[in-house]
Amino acid sequence: MENVVIAGSGPAGLTAAIYTARSELNPLVLEGPVPGGQLIVSNEVENYPGFAAPVLGMELMERFHKQAEHFGACFKSQPVEEILGDNTVTGAALKNPVTVEKREIPCDGIFVAIGHDPKTQVFKALVETDEQDCIKVKAGSTRTLTPGVFACGDVCDPVYKQAVVAAGQGCMAAVDVGRYLAENEFGDRP
Ligand SMILES: Cc1cc2nc3c(=O)[nH]c(=O)nc-3n(C[C@H](O)[C@H](O)[C@H](O)COP(=O)(O)OP(=O)(O)OC[C@H]3O[C@@H](n4cnc5c(N)ncnc54)[C@H](O)[C@@H]3O)c2cc1C
Repeated sequence: MENVVIAGSGPAGLTAAIYTARSELNPLVLEGPVPGGQLIVSNEVENYPGFAAPVLGMELMERFHKQAEHFGACFKSQPVEEILGDNTVTGAALKNPVTVEKREIPCDGIFVAIGHDPKTQVFKALVETDEQDCIKVKAGSTRTLTPGVFACGDVCDPVYKQAVVAAGQGCMAAVDVGRYLAENEFGDRP
């Protein structure tokens, strides 16, 4: 059983991975079809805080990835096909894009950080979306209406769509899931 599964490996998912791994929640990151997210196709990023000189989007995301790995996050490439559960999350369903083999990963908490062209259709059984297909979260939080499911980054942001905002929301989601696991006494499992 995983404590935390993170769907997506852009700035939101990888920041969530850094924070949850550093909090020893042993996150599993499902990178999906575009490891590193949208910024890997961006040439130079000139406005990410901490970089006075422009940084290549690919290099920036490699740094996020290394930092998450440094704290012990695990990575798999498969996309999440479905969030499992009824009123609360119980797992994630994955499909191997090559073999089409399906498998389920039981977990207590899941982050949806799948980016700006949200293919939220597959998550609709357990999350609510707005008219722009963005996942709805509670005001000032990353909690969705389903306990244990959190959303961060462009997938729930119809307004800003910037890397630093996505990273900030990834941090918020990590704090929110830590509190959720503690409230529900999930966190102490070995
Ligand atoms: C060309 C370009 C240039 C940009 N330049 C800048 C810039 O200079 N400064 C700036 O601040 N912002 C810039 N942005 C915006 C910035 O890239 C986004 O705001 C940011 O990447 C959003 O991060 P995210 O983590 O929410 O999503 P994304 O970066 O979109 O990451 C989404 C992740 O979800 C994964 N995924 C998708 N479906 C699934 C699934 N079913 N299961 C598991 N994983 C899945 C993908 O593989 C990917 O890893 C630019 C965007 C583009 C396209």
